[in-house]
Order: sequence, then C-alpha cells, then structure tokens
Amino acid sequence: MPTGLEIYKLLPKTNCKKCSFPTCLAFAMAMAAQKVELAACPDVSDEARQKLSASSRPPVHSFAIGPASTPLMLGGETVLFRHDKRFINACGLAVSVAADDPLDEVRRRCREISRLKFERVGETTGVDAVALRSTGGNPGQFALAARAVAESDALALILQTPDLDEVRAALPCCRHIRPLLHGGRGIDLKEWGNLAHETALPLVVSGASLEEIAEKTTTLERAGVRDLVIDPAGDCKDGEMVEMLTACRRLAIARGCSELGYPILVQLTASTPEKRLAQAVAAVSKYASLLVLDECDPELVFPLVTLRFNLYTDPQKPIMMTPGVYEIGNPGPEAPVLVTTNFALTYYSVRPEVEAARAPARILLTDSDGMSVLTAWAADKFSASTIAKALKESNVEALVNHRTMVIPGLVSVLSGEVEESTGWRVLVGPREASGLPRFLKQCWR
Ligand code: SF4
Repeated sequence: MPTGLEIYKLLPKTNCKKCSFPTCLAFAMAMAAQKVELAACPDVSDEARQKLSASSRPPVHSFAIGPASTPLMLGGETVLFRHDKRFINACGLAVSVAADDPLDEVRRRCREISRLKFERVGETTGVDAVALRSTGGNPGQFALAARAVAESDALALILQTPDLDEVRAALPCCRHIRPLLHGGRGIDLKEWGNLAHETALPLVVSGASLEEIAEKTTTLERAGVRDLVIDPAGDCKDGEMVEMLTACRRLAIARGCSELGYPILVQLTASTPEKRLAQAVAAVSKYASLLVLDECDPELVFPLVTLRFNLYTDPQKPIMMTPGVYEIGNPGPEAPVLVTTNFALTYYSVRPEVEAARAPARILLTDSDGMSVLTAWAADKFSASTIAKALKESNVEALVNHRTMVIPGLVSVLSGEVEESTGWRVLVGPREASGLPRFLKQCWR
C-alpha cells in the first residue's frame, strides 16, 4: 500500500471536498490507512487511478467464487497476525463429493452439506462449498454431478478433476455460480490458463515447491488469468504444512512477493480423525483461505466454524447486538423486563438462561458500544441515563402492564439512580446469568 504522501502526489489537489474530506491530503491519509477507497474521489485522473489501484491491491489478492447471492470471498489479507489489524475473509470450508457416485447420492450429500448449519453469536454458519472430485474420463457424468451441486442451496463449487474435457462439459451447468477450477499438479498450464482466461474463472495452481508455484502464477498472470488460488501444501508431511503456509504468507505480506499473493487452498491428508482435526485447525489458523474436508462430519465442522469465527472477528470491535427489546418465549404484558448491555456474549449468556427458566421475558439491551456489564458501567456506558434512554427508545412501556425492571447484580449500585430517573421499580438480579432461572422463579412478581 502506498503511503499517504505518495497517494497525495497523484490526487488532483483541488481540495474540492467532494469526497467528504476537507483536503486532498486528509483524503490521502485516510486512504493510506485503508479507511476510504479511491472511488470516493470523482476527479482522479485515469493514470492516477491505474497506478493507485495496482499499488493498493492487498498483498493477498481477493475475489469471490460461488453464487452471486451468497459469494464466498477469498483472500484480501493484509497482515500476518490478527492483532496487527484484523483478518479479512474467513477460511471457506468445502467437502469432497465423488462425481462418479450415483446422482441421487450426489444430491443427498449436497443436501446434507447445505443443511449442516450452526448458530454462533447470532450468525448462521456452516460448510461453504462442494469439491466435486473425479479422476477423469467421464465428462457426461461429471456434468450431471456439477448440475446437481449447482442446483443445491447456495454452495460454491470446486471442479476438482485433471480432465479438461470434464470441466468443459460441466461449465454450461455451473458457470453462473463461478466455480473454482482445480486440475491438480500435472495440468497443461497453457490449456487450463486459456480456459480460465476465456471464461474469467479462477484456477488452482499446485506445485512441489513455492518456487514452482511462483513460476506458474507468473506465467498465468502474463496470460491474463487474474484470479488464482495456490495449493502449496499438497506434498507436506504432518507438521510441515504450517511451515509451508507461513512461509508462503510471509513472503506475500512481509516481502511483497506478489507471485505468492493469492488465497491458499489446503486439502486434508492426515490419516486418522484426530490428526485430521489437528491438521484442519492448523490450516484454518495459518493461513488457509479454503480447506477441503473429506467428510461432512459435524464433529469436525463445528470446531472449525467456531475457530474461524473467533479468528476472523475484528479485535478492535466488540461483537455487539442491536440495542432494543428481544422477546423470549412469547412474553405477555406481565412478563419481566431484564435490562443489560448489548455485548453479544452478554446477550447470549442471558438468553439461554431465560429459555432454561421457561419464563417468557423481554431482554432490553442498552446501547453500550458492545461492552460487557462491568466494563460499560466503568466507562459510563451503562448508567441510569443510558437505561432511561433505552426504555424510551424501545417503547417497552407500551408492551408491559407493570413498571419493574431487573438489572444485573454486578451493577446493583445503579438501582437508586435508575429508579429516580425512570420512575420504574428496580429489582437487582443475580451477579451471573446462571442465577437467572432461580431468580425468576423466586423473586419475580
Ligand atoms: Fe481532493 Fe478528490 Fe477529495 Fe476533491 S474529491 S478533495 S480532489 S481527494
């Protein structure tokens, strides 16, 4: 990424403010910090646009595969460590399906894969793609299997076959979902590159070493193929994979080696379920953009979606809920009102306890910038005035026939002030969410 001054030199320097920044220099600094895109300046020259878009490409090229409605974004990474800034596009998970299985079995596997969903802190997540695997020689069957995957629900597709005729036969059925072409190590680079260029589809580049991969990506780039995925770990033994992937990502980000600046694909090769899980965890952590699993096994997928969820959140932004009223169990007008902060983990700690109590209730989340209860209280983000504001904005008064709220036991000190500023009676709840079922049974009137 160019510096602010390098960007500034290429801007019109008219300080016209059309970009909402007071000066071109301020805009340049914001662009260098990746807070704004060049497109926000309508007056930039074509020459400057060309220079800046080439140099502002992230060290790991970013593009999408899969259906336009639910694209699977790959790459776009700019840092080696999450604490340096943040990771951008979470590692996609794909499951292998054999193309020579009977079509009903291919459809059944696709249904099984697309139904395997988990909810993590309000987000639904699961497997993202199918890797349709063939050893070649049967274009008709491969095309039918590709059609079956393309018709399944919102899954991306990797066409994993060394047979170019199979790929050509499959493309009319699945080109609209932008499949990833994966021919393996021995492909004819010219033929596959031509197909990827003509169809504008992404292509996987494999090799026995990083040097070989870099040579191949250079050749393909010259042939006009922009969207590449690299597979540098194919031959790695247990324990070598992380070293290889780290070297690859380090060269791309820290050394500016654009030949290796592409999303990385990893195929699980370990022999036992325990080793496969360890290999998958290592790949998601460092630095796979796409991981191909053999099985759609919930015991393998669940830890991986949890891990990637944790890795790919922005460490500078708390995970937060939208402030407002959340109803649990169809509450009537007499149901309790539990007030807390809008930190997602607070909400997802309180909610299951209320559900476990089988006591319909309303949880009122205040706007506390996504902080937990004690942190928000200490920062004056969870106070009598923010609670009063939340009561007013949510209009919860209209939903209940009482004026009693429960506040977390950790901030019992707020009770008097809240009663004064809201006119509501305040019950001090338990210090931990786990105490709510008992509290609701014994203390709520
Ligand atoms: Fe400068 Fe462009 Fe912003 Fe105008 S719109 S102030 S020319 S950066």
